[in-house]
Amino acid sequence: MKNLEAIRQDFPCLRRQVDGKPLVYFDSAATAQVPQVVIDAISTANATLRANVHRGVHTLSAEATEAMERTREKVRAFLGAESTQEIIFTRGTTEGINLVASSFGELLEAGDEIIVTEMEHHSNIVPWQLLVSRRGVVVKPAPILDDGTLDLEALEALFTPRTRLVAVTHASNVLGTINPVADIAAMAHAHGARILVDGAQAVPHLSVDVRAIDCDFYAFSAHKLYGPTGVGVLYGKRELLEKMPPYQGGGEMIGTVSFAGTTFADLPFKFEAGTPNFIDIIAFAAALDYFRALDLTQIAAHEQALLDEATRGISAIPGARVFGTAANKCPVLSFLIGNDSSYDIGLLLDKMGIAIRTGHHCAEPLMTRFGVRGMARASLSFYNTSAEVERFVAATARAAAMLS
Ligand code: PMP
Repeated sequence: MKNLEAIRQDFPCLRRQVDGKPLVYFDSAATAQVPQVVIDAISTANATLRANVHRGVHTLSAEATEAMERTREKVRAFLGAESTQEIIFTRGTTEGINLVASSFGELLEAGDEIIVTEMEHHSNIVPWQLLVSRRGVVVKPAPILDDGTLDLEALEALFTPRTRLVAVTHASNVLGTINPVADIAAMAHAHGARILVDGAQAVPHLSVDVRAIDCDFYAFSAHKLYGPTGVGVLYGKRELLEKMPPYQGGGEMIGTVSFAGTTFADLPFKFEAGTPNFIDIIAFAAALDYFRALDLTQIAAHEQALLDEATRGISAIPGARVFGTAANKCPVLSFLIGNDSSYDIGLLLDKMGIAIRTGHHCAEPLMTRFGVRGMARASLSFYNTSAEVERFVAATARAAAMLS
């Protein structure tokens, strides 16, 4: 594998300066940087493959279609799915979950129950809440423990014969906690329920195998996986997707259309109405190739070492509180110092060239659980360095001193 300096050279945005200082980018959990190969792939697709997919008989259209379908095959292999029919392209994790809520939601009846957890992102809460008024379903939140792990006993106690789905994140965007999703899948199936896993924060750090997890749905976003914006993936088990009605109507998702009745296309196209973001989907293949060429064990060890160093450094600042201390974490460090607002810490760090995330992180129930309005969050990636962690810790200590 390339060394760290060579890897950093692949990411042009990491060479940026902010306020005259070299950028320290600690916000990869929100959006990761892209390597030059992905930037080039977007440009090449626009320059050479710009014709609508799955439509034309002409060469350009056929080549664009083939390229888009090659990405689908790469995603299938990346997730360990059985068939490309189970891989649906979306705009992102949010749209994938909304697709399931709308379509699977049509199969639900008043009184059916959906279990979520207190650590979910809003995108894995609100789509289910919309079903409360539309379908009369009940949404039940599973609690978490003080260290930021799921209370698995309490989760199991929430199941009833009316439980139809568990919607759980694979890794928390705030606490970093990696949830035992295979165990939760087994629990859900034992109770006759399905499971949707939000993989937005997991795919950039863990090796994911949807068949080993045995999840029914798995959603993620390309922009957090070193890929283009506006592309996401929803995996669904074929037997289940076949039973679900279309999400949106339009071109590409039909078999034949007449005013007497319309038939729908086979999977996965039944769920891909309209012109997809095919340029970015084609370019996403370059991100998958780049990521898969890295040694995942080696980058995971590097990310964990950075996380440990950052956690030690921040914890040593007087008044520091770290949220999420699970043994099994992805490289996300959420914290507060004394009564300082996360916003003030973030603004001061920005002045020192360091980009972190502040606020409620689209997880307000989790903020309520910890009795805070927001948290400061540093999220790390394989392209970050120990020198950057040192700068971040020193800058945070300085910010805390200035705020007090
Ligand atoms: N789930 C989790 C755990 C996330 O971290 C995010 C992004 N912050 C999302 C869902 C939503 O992803 P997107 O905005 O790309 O749809």
